[in-house]
Amino acid sequence: MIPSPASPLASPTTAQRSQPPPIPLVAPVTELQPFPLADQFDPALAAFLDRASDQLCHWLAGAGSASPLPALNVLPAVEPEALGLPAERLLADLQRVMEGAYQPNHPGALAHLDPPALSSSLAADLICAGLNNNLLAEELSPSLSRLERSLCSWLARSLGFPAGASGVPASGGSLSNLMALVVARQSRGLNLRNDAVVLCSADAHLSLAKALVVMGLPPSALRCLPVDGRGRLDPGQLEQNLLQLECRGVPVIAVVATAGTTVRGAVDPLSSLAEVCQRLGHWLHVDGAIGAVVALSPQHCGRVEGLGLADSLTINPQKLLGITKTSSLLVLARPELLPMTFATGLPYMEPSLGGSHGGEAGLQGSRPAEILKLWLGLRQLGLSGIAALVDGAIQRRQRLGSLLAMDDRLNLLPGDLHLLAFRPHGLDPGGCERWSLQTRQTLLDQQLMLSRPLYQGQHHLKAVLGNPYTQPRHLEALAHLIHTTLTDG
Ligand SMILES: *Cc1c(COP(=O)(O)O)cnc(C)c1O
Repeated sequence: MIPSPASPLASPTTAQRSQPPPIPLVAPVTELQPFPLADQFDPALAAFLDRASDQLCHWLAGAGSASPLPALNVLPAVEPEALGLPAERLLADLQRVMEGAYQPNHPGALAHLDPPALSSSLAADLICAGLNNNLLAEELSPSLSRLERSLCSWLARSLGFPAGASGVPASGGSLSNLMALVVARQSRGLNLRNDAVVLCSADAHLSLAKALVVMGLPPSALRCLPVDGRGRLDPGQLEQNLLQLECRGVPVIAVVATAGTTVRGAVDPLSSLAEVCQRLGHWLHVDGAIGAVVALSPQHCGRVEGLGLADSLTINPQKLLGITKTSSLLVLARPELLPMTFATGLPYMEPSLGGSHGGEAGLQGSRPAEILKLWLGLRQLGLSGIAALVDGAIQRRQRLGSLLAMDDRLNLLPGDLHLLAFRPHGLDPGGCERWSLQTRQTLLDQQLMLSRPLYQGQHHLKAVLGNPYTQPRHLEALAHLIHTTLTDG
């Protein structure tokens, strides 16, 4: 009898399984394989992931006992050795890198817009890696592409955009801002105009300057208008500038308003700016990388009123909401402009069920399912949890603000969100720089970390109150130490 040829998909016999495979898999199955076993539950992989997550949980648990900014440590070797390493060594090396990492879970981590990771988003990131789907095309991410479209539409509606609005995830707010400007330029027929300009406030984010570099425009194409005493763009002044540009025949790609500036958390008057843009026929992009999530809090949504009147909006759930990085989205009132700008056709892919493929809705081609951790994170929080994160941050800002305001030697910059920047009154720039350096170190010695932005020619100290682990006692200690630096100096 002629033996029938074995199907390539048939389960191998035990004898076959123990033969050396063509790639350097390590036998036996109790050792971690380069790729997970495909035909049975992989106990070595499960044990490895268990131990890695155990290691992570211990690192998180140690947050309170070390400084947010660890001392320099020795990194393990970077180059692969001649022979692959066993699980034990991999985990030990991983641990050394972890020990040198910035610790966002420390209650004194108040320097930047990088809060602790939301636990469900952390798990979703792991699953995302394991699924290894590709949002480039629907056939490489069938359920995730649909999840992405649905969640983007829900988010657009929840932020106050009209029906039909939606968006696309991007790997960071810089990329969301870039895509917004590219879409605005294309939709206004200005792709070939190298004299076109973008208007924003002097406090707008540096990523706009980068975007212009990518778009082939000179630095002078970014017209930064001065801010008022509260750090905001003045609608009257914007209107004047737009009318002057029109008189001179200078084409405008977009006006960029900021909902939450980087140093003081100021929110430009969005409704008034939208009214001006609408009346004069200009595209309004809102950079809400910091502040857009505030629209999800019933108590504080008034602080970003008018968000939904924009043509486009950048939102970074990786900031205040603690979704693991990166998590940013570009939301558009007319999402069909995305494929009109970026679609190339994907002739090697089956058609998408939902119109365009993920890879045609933005600049990125292959991209991970970042939507998964945002979706799971929002579901874990619920609407009340989302609001509580926003409300808690603004409350801590108010608390620290009133503690510091008791000392009339300090100049606190007004702001609208959960950021607080300040400097002593009456110091020249050199004095401010020295004070900020010394004070930052004094605070770091007590495991309290602030940042030291140079703003309007002076160094400030800045606290970002987005860390939910920060308690009133930390804020009191912070205010007390700052008070002593003024007394001693
Ligand atoms: C953080 C930030 C950005 C850029 O976001 P990335 O994710 O760092 O690229 C843009 N605008 C504002 C106002 C920001 O605070």
